[in-house]
Amino acid sequence: MPDDSNTPIAELKRQVLAMCRRKGWGDENGVQDPQHVAMAMTVEMSELLEHFQWLGPEDVRALLNGGDPQRVALIGEEFADVMMYGLQLADALNIDVTQQILRKIDIVDRRQPKPNEPRR
Ligand SMILES: [Mg+2]
Repeated sequence: MPDDSNTPIAELKRQVLAMCRRKGWGDENGVQDPQHVAMAMTVEMSELLEHFQWLGPEDVRALLNGGDPQRVALIGEEFADVMMYGLQLADALNIDVTQQILRKIDIVDRRQPKPNEPRR
């Protein structure tokens, strides 16, 4: 069974692109307009956020402790929508996800903490 431990990001990019081609979305290679993809990603992020709307701290704690698996499953679906658009955006603009994330981690590590940044 494929999961995060055994599936390269390149394989996920390939599968999302193949889905787009099957659906007739985007150009002949399944590549969609990155502006449209970025906008759609925001819509999907809002759908994800909707599952957190009006939750109290005890509800969030329940999510963290596995107390609401149905809600977590719905959050997972919206998370997948966001990530699938993210992979399409990366594909359309030739962004290497791994290189960009590692580069960003390095930038954040070197940056002085912002005044309102959460601290432990
Ligand atoms: Mg959705």
